[in-house]
Amino acid sequence: MAVKILVRYGEIALKGKNRGQFEQQLLRNLNAAVNRYHGRAEKMHGRFMVTGPDEHCDLMINRLSRVFGVVSVSLVRETELDIDRIKMLAAEMVERLPADQDTFKIETRRSNKKFPYSSPETNHLLGAYLQELNPNLVVDLKNPSFKLSVELGYSKAYLFLDRVAGPGGLPVGITGRSLLLLSGGIDSPVAGWLTMKRGLFVEAVHFHSFPFTSHRSQEKVVELCRKLASYNNKIPLHIVSVTAIQKELNAKCPEDLAIILLRRMMYRIAEIISYKRGLQALITGENLGQVASQTLESINVIDKATGMLILRPLLGLDKSEIIELAVKIDTYETSILPYEDCCTLFMPKSPVTKPKLTIIEKYESNLDIEGLLNEAMASLETTIVKEY
Ligand code: ATP
Ligand code: MG
Repeated sequence: MAVKILVRYGEIALKGKNRGQFEQQLLRNLNAAVNRYHGRAEKMHGRFMVTGPDEHCDLMINRLSRVFGVVSVSLVRETELDIDRIKMLAAEMVERLPADQDTFKIETRRSNKKFPYSSPETNHLLGAYLQELNPNLVVDLKNPSFKLSVELGYSKAYLFLDRVAGPGGLPVGITGRSLLLLSGGIDSPVAGWLTMKRGLFVEAVHFHSFPFTSHRSQEKVVELCRKLASYNNKIPLHIVSVTAIQKELNAKCPEDLAIILLRRMMYRIAEIISYKRGLQALITGENLGQVASQTLESINVIDKATGMLILRPLLGLDKSEIIELAVKIDTYETSILPYEDCCTLFMPKSPVTKPKLTIIEKYESNLDIEGLLNEAMASLETTIVKEY
Protein backbone atom coordinates (compact mmCIF):
# COMPACT_ATOMS: atom_id res chain seq x y z
CA MET A 1 0.00 0.00 0.00
CA ALA A 2 1.14 3.54 -0.65
CA VAL A 3 1.40 6.22 2.02
CA LYS A 4 1.23 9.96 1.52
CA ILE A 5 3.43 12.45 3.32
CA LEU A 6 2.64 16.14 3.16
CA VAL A 7 5.70 18.41 3.11
CA ARG A 8 5.44 22.06 4.12
CA TYR A 9 7.98 24.75 3.34
CA GLY A 10 8.46 28.34 4.37
CA GLU A 11 6.74 30.10 1.54
CA ILE A 12 6.06 33.41 3.24
CA ALA A 13 9.38 35.12 2.63
CA LEU A 14 9.59 33.99 -0.99
CA LYS A 15 8.58 36.20 -3.84
CA GLY A 16 8.40 36.04 -7.64
CA LYS A 17 11.21 34.28 -9.43
CA ASN A 18 12.91 33.21 -6.18
CA ARG A 19 9.89 31.23 -5.22
CA GLY A 20 9.86 29.23 -8.46
CA GLN A 21 13.56 28.39 -8.11
CA PHE A 22 13.13 27.50 -4.45
CA GLU A 23 10.30 25.12 -5.28
CA GLN A 24 12.13 23.48 -8.17
CA GLN A 25 15.28 22.90 -6.16
CA LEU A 26 13.30 21.64 -3.19
CA LEU A 27 11.38 19.24 -5.41
CA ARG A 28 14.66 17.84 -6.76
CA ASN A 29 16.06 17.47 -3.24
CA LEU A 30 12.92 15.81 -1.92
CA ASN A 31 12.98 13.31 -4.77
CA ALA A 32 16.68 12.64 -4.18
CA ALA A 33 15.95 12.10 -0.47
CA VAL A 34 13.22 9.49 -0.93
CA ASN A 35 14.42 7.90 -4.16
CA ARG A 36 16.12 5.03 -2.31
CA TYR A 37 12.83 4.26 -0.59
CA HIS A 38 11.00 4.27 -3.93
CA GLY A 39 9.16 7.42 -2.92
CA ARG A 40 8.22 10.25 -5.28
CA ALA A 41 7.49 13.91 -4.60
CA GLU A 42 5.14 16.19 -6.49
CA LYS A 43 4.10 19.77 -6.15
CA MET A 44 0.67 20.54 -4.81
CA HIS A 45 -0.56 24.13 -4.29
CA GLY A 46 1.98 25.55 -1.83
CA ARG A 47 2.95 22.11 -0.53
CA PHE A 48 4.64 18.96 -1.73
CA MET A 49 3.18 15.49 -1.50
CA VAL A 50 5.43 12.47 -1.25
CA THR A 51 3.99 9.09 -2.12
CA GLY A 52 5.84 5.90 -1.28
CA PRO A 53 5.53 2.35 -0.03
CA ASP A 54 3.96 1.77 3.36
CA GLU A 55 6.89 -0.24 4.72
CA HIS A 56 9.27 2.73 4.34
CA CYS A 57 6.94 5.27 5.90
CA ASP A 58 8.99 6.05 9.04
CA LEU A 59 12.27 6.12 7.13
CA MET A 60 10.83 8.52 4.58
CA ILE A 61 9.43 10.84 7.26
CA ASN A 62 12.76 10.82 9.06
CA ARG A 63 14.69 11.58 5.88
CA LEU A 64 12.29 14.27 4.69
CA SER A 65 12.55 16.02 8.05
CA ARG A 66 16.25 16.53 7.26
CA VAL A 67 15.79 18.22 3.89
CA PHE A 68 16.69 21.90 4.13
CA GLY A 69 13.81 24.15 3.16
CA VAL A 70 11.29 21.85 4.83
CA VAL A 71 9.36 23.36 7.74
CA SER A 72 7.41 20.24 8.73
CA VAL A 73 6.08 16.95 7.40
CA SER A 74 2.96 14.94 8.20
CA LEU A 75 1.73 11.50 7.39
CA VAL A 76 -1.69 12.17 5.86
CA ARG A 77 -4.79 10.16 5.05
CA GLU A 78 -6.49 10.93 1.78
CA THR A 79 -10.17 10.90 0.92
CA GLU A 80 -12.68 12.28 -1.56
CA LEU A 81 -13.60 15.95 -1.47
CA ASP A 82 -16.90 15.17 0.14
CA ILE A 83 -17.94 16.25 3.62
CA ASP A 84 -19.42 12.86 4.54
CA ARG A 85 -16.27 11.02 3.47
CA ILE A 86 -14.18 13.50 5.41
CA LYS A 87 -16.34 13.01 8.51
CA MET A 88 -15.96 9.23 8.28
CA LEU A 89 -12.21 9.40 7.90
CA ALA A 90 -11.93 11.89 10.79
CA ALA A 91 -13.95 9.55 13.02
CA GLU A 92 -11.77 6.59 12.07
CA MET A 93 -8.56 8.49 12.86
CA VAL A 94 -9.82 9.84 16.18
CA GLU A 95 -11.14 6.45 17.25
CA ARG A 96 -7.59 5.08 17.20
CA LEU A 97 -6.29 7.68 19.66
CA PRO A 98 -5.84 6.80 23.35
CA ALA A 99 -8.94 7.53 25.44
CA ASP A 100 -7.16 10.19 27.55
CA GLN A 101 -6.80 12.39 24.47
CA ASP A 102 -10.18 13.99 25.01
CA THR A 103 -9.69 17.68 24.22
CA PHE A 104 -9.30 18.69 20.61
CA LYS A 105 -9.20 21.28 17.94
CA ILE A 106 -9.88 21.08 14.23
CA GLU A 107 -7.94 23.19 11.78
CA THR A 108 -9.01 23.37 8.16
CA ARG A 109 -7.08 24.88 5.27
CA ARG A 110 -9.15 25.32 2.14
CA SER A 111 -6.93 25.72 -0.93
CA ASN A 112 -9.85 24.76 -3.14
CA LYS A 113 -12.40 27.57 -2.82
CA LYS A 114 -14.91 25.48 -4.75
CA PHE A 115 -15.41 23.22 -1.77
CA PRO A 116 -18.91 24.14 -0.55
CA TYR A 117 -17.99 24.83 3.10
CA SER A 118 -15.58 27.48 4.32
CA SER A 119 -12.75 26.53 6.66
CA PRO A 120 -14.64 27.59 9.85
CA GLU A 121 -17.77 25.79 8.62
CA THR A 122 -15.79 22.63 7.99
CA ASN A 123 -14.26 22.89 11.48
CA HIS A 124 -17.71 23.14 13.02
CA LEU A 125 -19.26 20.34 10.99
CA LEU A 126 -16.44 17.94 11.76
CA GLY A 127 -16.17 18.95 15.43
CA ALA A 128 -19.90 18.48 15.98
CA TYR A 129 -19.80 15.10 14.25
CA LEU A 130 -16.91 13.84 16.38
CA GLN A 131 -18.65 15.00 19.56
CA GLU A 132 -21.84 13.31 18.47
CA LEU A 133 -19.93 10.03 18.16
CA ASN A 134 -17.98 10.57 21.35
CA PRO A 135 -19.69 12.84 23.92
CA ASN A 136 -16.54 12.87 26.11
CA LEU A 137 -14.67 14.98 23.56
CA VAL A 138 -14.31 18.64 24.49
CA VAL A 139 -13.19 21.40 22.16
CA ASP A 140 -10.14 23.25 23.46
CA LEU A 141 -8.72 25.77 21.00
CA LYS A 142 -5.82 26.86 23.23
CA ASN A 143 -4.34 23.66 24.56
CA PRO A 144 -5.92 20.63 22.90
CA SER A 145 -4.60 17.10 23.58
CA PHE A 146 -4.83 16.49 19.83
CA LYS A 147 -5.28 18.57 16.76
CA LEU A 148 -6.93 17.20 13.64
CA SER A 149 -5.89 19.10 10.53
CA VAL A 150 -7.77 19.05 7.26
CA GLU A 151 -6.40 20.23 3.92
CA LEU A 152 -8.99 20.68 1.20
CA GLY A 153 -7.08 20.29 -2.06
CA TYR A 154 -8.26 20.49 -5.67
CA SER A 155 -9.01 16.83 -6.13
CA LYS A 156 -8.73 15.28 -2.68
CA ALA A 157 -8.96 16.08 1.02
CA TYR A 158 -6.09 15.24 3.38
CA LEU A 159 -6.33 14.69 7.12
CA PHE A 160 -3.51 14.39 9.63
CA LEU A 161 -2.79 14.47 13.36
CA ASP A 162 0.97 15.01 13.74
CA ARG A 163 3.68 17.22 12.40
CA VAL A 164 7.39 16.40 12.46
CA ALA A 165 9.55 19.53 12.38
CA GLY A 166 11.98 19.99 9.49
CA PRO A 167 15.25 21.96 9.65
CA GLY A 168 13.95 25.05 7.84
CA GLY A 169 16.47 27.00 5.77
CA LEU A 170 16.84 26.93 1.99
CA PRO A 171 17.09 23.93 -0.35
CA VAL A 172 20.70 22.85 -0.78
CA GLY A 173 22.10 23.97 -4.12
CA ILE A 174 20.04 27.09 -4.51
CA THR A 175 22.61 29.64 -3.30
CA GLY A 176 25.76 28.09 -4.81
CA ARG A 177 28.61 25.69 -4.10
CA SER A 178 31.25 25.85 -1.40
CA LEU A 179 34.22 24.02 0.07
CA LEU A 180 34.22 23.16 3.77
CA LEU A 181 37.55 22.81 5.54
CA LEU A 182 36.70 19.78 7.62
CA SER A 183 38.91 18.72 10.52
CA GLY A 184 37.89 15.93 12.86
CA GLY A 185 36.88 18.42 15.54
CA ILE A 186 33.51 19.58 16.84
CA ASP A 187 33.28 22.89 15.03
CA SER A 188 33.76 22.38 11.31
CA PRO A 189 30.94 19.83 10.82
CA VAL A 190 28.55 22.28 12.48
CA ALA A 191 29.86 25.05 10.21
CA GLY A 192 29.15 22.79 7.23
CA TRP A 193 25.63 22.06 8.42
CA LEU A 194 24.84 25.76 8.89
CA THR A 195 26.20 26.44 5.40
CA MET A 196 23.97 23.79 3.86
CA LYS A 197 21.08 25.22 5.81
CA ARG A 198 21.46 28.45 3.85
CA GLY A 199 21.24 26.57 0.56
CA LEU A 200 24.92 26.12 -0.33
CA PHE A 201 26.02 22.78 -1.71
CA VAL A 202 29.03 21.66 0.31
CA GLU A 203 32.12 19.74 -0.73
CA ALA A 204 34.71 19.04 1.97
CA VAL A 205 38.50 19.01 2.15
CA HIS A 206 40.47 17.32 4.88
CA PHE A 207 44.20 17.71 5.42
CA HIS A 208 46.19 14.94 7.04
CA SER A 209 49.82 14.20 7.83
CA PHE A 210 49.94 10.48 7.30
CA PRO A 211 51.91 8.58 8.68
CA PHE A 212 52.05 11.07 11.57
CA THR A 213 48.27 11.10 11.68
CA SER A 214 46.51 7.74 11.44
CA HIS A 215 44.11 6.24 8.92
CA ARG A 216 41.61 6.16 11.74
CA SER A 217 41.46 9.93 11.89
CA GLN A 218 40.67 9.95 8.17
CA GLU A 219 37.92 7.39 8.71
CA LYS A 220 36.51 9.70 11.35
CA VAL A 221 36.27 12.49 8.80
CA VAL A 222 34.52 10.15 6.35
CA GLU A 223 32.05 9.32 9.12
CA LEU A 224 31.43 13.05 9.76
CA CYS A 225 30.78 13.50 6.04
CA ARG A 226 28.29 10.65 6.16
CA LYS A 227 26.42 12.42 8.93
CA LEU A 228 26.36 15.65 6.92
CA ALA A 229 25.35 13.70 3.82
CA SER A 230 22.20 12.58 5.61
CA TYR A 231 21.03 16.17 5.05
CA ASN A 232 22.53 16.51 1.61
CA ASN A 233 22.53 13.01 0.02
CA LYS A 234 26.22 13.20 -0.76
CA ILE A 235 29.36 15.11 0.09
CA PRO A 236 32.36 14.98 -2.24
CA LEU A 237 35.34 14.65 0.13
CA HIS A 238 38.84 15.67 -0.94
CA ILE A 239 41.67 14.26 1.16
CA VAL A 240 45.05 15.93 0.89
CA SER A 241 48.40 15.18 2.52
CA VAL A 242 50.23 18.13 4.08
CA THR A 243 53.04 15.96 5.49
CA ALA A 244 55.68 17.44 3.18
CA ILE A 245 54.52 20.97 3.98
CA GLN A 246 54.72 20.35 7.71
CA LYS A 247 58.21 18.88 7.41
CA GLU A 248 59.34 21.89 5.42
CA LEU A 249 57.81 24.36 7.87
CA ASN A 250 59.40 22.45 10.70
CA ALA A 251 62.81 22.73 9.11
CA LYS A 252 62.67 26.34 7.90
CA CYS A 253 60.33 28.38 10.09
CA PRO A 254 60.07 29.32 13.74
CA GLU A 255 57.94 26.95 15.73
CA ASP A 256 55.59 29.62 17.05
CA LEU A 257 54.52 30.63 13.52
CA ALA A 258 53.93 27.09 12.28
CA ILE A 259 50.14 27.04 12.72
CA ILE A 260 49.65 30.27 10.84
CA LEU A 261 51.92 29.16 8.02
CA LEU A 262 50.24 25.78 7.78
CA ARG A 263 46.80 27.38 7.73
CA ARG A 264 47.82 29.67 4.91
CA MET A 265 48.96 26.64 2.92
CA MET A 266 45.67 24.88 3.65
CA TYR A 267 43.72 27.87 2.36
CA ARG A 268 45.83 27.96 -0.79
CA ILE A 269 45.20 24.28 -1.46
CA ALA A 270 41.49 24.83 -0.80
CA GLU A 271 41.54 27.67 -3.31
CA ILE A 272 43.08 25.44 -6.00
CA ILE A 273 40.46 22.74 -5.37
CA SER A 274 37.68 25.34 -5.46
CA TYR A 275 38.92 26.66 -8.77
CA LYS A 276 38.98 23.17 -10.28
CA ARG A 277 35.54 22.27 -8.94
CA GLY A 278 33.78 25.60 -9.50
CA LEU A 279 33.26 26.28 -5.78
CA GLN A 280 32.65 29.87 -4.77
CA ALA A 281 33.51 30.13 -1.07
CA LEU A 282 35.55 28.44 1.65
CA ILE A 283 33.81 27.52 4.89
CA THR A 284 35.67 27.06 8.16
CA GLY A 285 34.75 26.25 11.74
CA GLU A 286 36.76 29.19 13.00
CA ASN A 287 35.45 31.19 15.86
CA LEU A 288 36.85 34.11 17.79
CA GLY A 289 38.87 33.65 20.94
CA GLN A 290 38.77 29.87 21.22
CA VAL A 291 42.43 29.19 20.47
CA ALA A 292 45.57 31.13 19.56
CA SER A 293 45.00 30.95 15.82
CA GLN A 294 41.58 32.52 16.27
CA THR A 295 42.48 36.08 17.18
CA LEU A 296 41.41 38.78 14.77
CA GLU A 297 45.07 39.30 13.89
CA SER A 298 45.64 35.61 13.10
CA ILE A 299 42.46 35.25 11.09
CA ASN A 300 43.38 38.33 9.12
CA VAL A 301 46.85 37.01 8.25
CA ILE A 302 45.46 33.58 7.32
CA ASP A 303 42.75 35.23 5.25
CA LYS A 304 45.27 37.12 3.14
CA ALA A 305 46.73 33.86 1.77
CA THR A 306 44.00 33.64 -0.87
CA GLY A 307 41.65 35.93 -2.72
CA MET A 308 38.70 33.71 -1.90
CA LEU A 309 35.57 34.54 -0.03
CA ILE A 310 35.78 32.80 3.34
CA LEU A 311 32.67 32.26 5.42
CA ARG A 312 32.79 31.48 9.13
CA PRO A 313 29.26 30.55 10.11
CA LEU A 314 30.13 29.88 13.77
CA LEU A 315 31.26 33.38 14.54
CA GLY A 316 28.13 34.35 16.43
CA LEU A 317 27.95 31.18 18.52
CA ASP A 318 29.28 30.28 21.96
CA LYS A 319 31.05 26.94 22.32
CA SER A 320 28.07 25.59 24.27
CA GLU A 321 25.75 26.54 21.42
CA ILE A 322 28.05 24.86 18.89
CA ILE A 323 28.07 21.68 20.99
CA GLU A 324 24.29 21.79 21.24
CA LEU A 325 24.05 21.92 17.46
CA ALA A 326 26.65 19.16 17.07
CA VAL A 327 24.50 16.94 19.31
CA LYS A 328 21.38 17.84 17.36
CA ILE A 329 22.89 16.99 13.98
CA ASP A 330 24.53 13.86 15.43
CA THR A 331 28.16 14.72 14.70
CA TYR A 332 29.18 15.31 18.32
CA GLU A 333 29.81 11.67 19.31
CA THR A 334 32.05 11.19 16.28
CA SER A 335 33.86 14.49 16.77
CA ILE A 336 34.88 13.73 20.35
CA LEU A 337 36.49 10.39 19.49
CA PRO A 338 40.23 10.75 20.13
CA TYR A 339 42.19 11.61 17.01
CA GLU A 340 45.28 13.44 15.92
CA ASP A 341 44.83 16.50 13.76
CA CYS A 342 47.75 17.55 11.61
CA CYS A 343 47.53 20.97 13.25
CA THR A 344 48.38 19.48 16.62
CA LEU A 345 51.50 17.80 15.29
CA PHE A 346 54.87 19.54 15.45
CA MET A 347 52.97 22.44 16.87
CA PRO A 348 54.22 24.87 19.49
CA LYS A 349 52.85 25.11 22.99
CA SER A 350 52.64 28.86 22.66
CA PRO A 351 51.87 29.98 19.12
CA VAL A 352 52.01 33.63 18.20
CA THR A 353 48.64 35.25 18.78
CA LYS A 354 49.32 38.51 16.95
CA PRO A 355 51.25 37.56 13.83
CA LYS A 356 52.50 40.19 11.40
CA LEU A 357 51.84 39.62 7.72
CA THR A 358 55.25 41.02 6.70
CA ILE A 359 57.08 38.55 8.93
CA ILE A 360 54.96 35.64 7.73
CA GLU A 361 55.64 36.63 4.13
CA LYS A 362 59.36 36.83 4.83
CA TYR A 363 59.44 33.21 5.94
CA GLU A 364 57.25 32.16 3.03
CA SER A 365 59.74 33.71 0.61
CA ASN A 366 62.22 31.01 1.74
CA LEU A 367 59.78 28.26 0.81
CA ASP A 368 59.03 26.74 -2.58
CA ILE A 369 55.33 27.47 -2.21
CA GLU A 370 54.40 26.35 -5.71
CA GLY A 371 56.37 23.11 -5.43
CA LEU A 372 54.77 22.34 -2.08
CA LEU A 373 51.28 23.07 -3.40
CA ASN A 374 51.89 20.85 -6.42
CA GLU A 375 53.13 18.06 -4.19
CA ALA A 376 50.06 18.37 -1.95
CA MET A 377 47.70 18.43 -4.93
CA ALA A 378 49.38 15.28 -6.30
CA SER A 379 48.26 13.50 -3.13
CA LEU A 380 44.63 14.52 -3.53
CA GLU A 381 42.07 11.76 -3.40
CA THR A 382 38.38 12.42 -3.87
CA THR A 383 35.55 10.18 -2.72
CA ILE A 384 31.84 10.80 -2.88
CA VAL A 385 30.55 10.13 0.61
CA LYS A 386 26.91 9.11 0.73
CA GLU A 387 24.52 8.80 3.62
CA TYR A 388 24.01 5.36 5.16
P1 ATP B 1 37.37 22.21 14.67
O1 ATP B 1 36.58 21.87 15.89
O2 ATP B 1 36.53 22.33 13.43
O3 ATP B 1 38.56 21.32 14.49
P2 ATP B 1 38.86 24.13 16.11
O4 ATP B 1 38.06 24.85 17.09
O5 ATP B 1 39.69 22.96 16.54
O6 ATP B 1 37.91 23.68 14.90
P3 ATP B 1 41.17 25.14 14.71
O7 ATP B 1 41.96 23.94 15.04
O8 ATP B 1 41.75 26.49 14.92
O9 ATP B 1 39.77 25.22 15.44
O10 ATP B 1 40.72 25.02 13.20
C1 ATP B 1 39.98 26.05 12.63
C2 ATP B 1 39.38 25.57 11.35
O11 ATP B 1 40.39 25.24 10.39
C3 ATP B 1 38.58 24.29 11.50
O12 ATP B 1 37.28 24.55 12.00
C4 ATP B 1 38.57 23.79 10.09
O13 ATP B 1 37.61 24.49 9.31
C5 ATP B 1 39.96 24.14 9.61
N1 ATP B 1 40.86 22.99 9.84
C6 ATP B 1 41.68 22.76 10.88
N2 ATP B 1 42.34 21.59 10.73
C7 ATP B 1 41.94 21.08 9.56
C8 ATP B 1 42.26 19.88 8.81
N3 ATP B 1 43.12 18.96 9.28
N4 ATP B 1 41.65 19.68 7.63
C9 ATP B 1 40.75 20.58 7.15
N5 ATP B 1 40.43 21.70 7.80
C10 ATP B 1 41.01 21.96 8.98
MG1 MG C 1 40.34 21.30 15.56
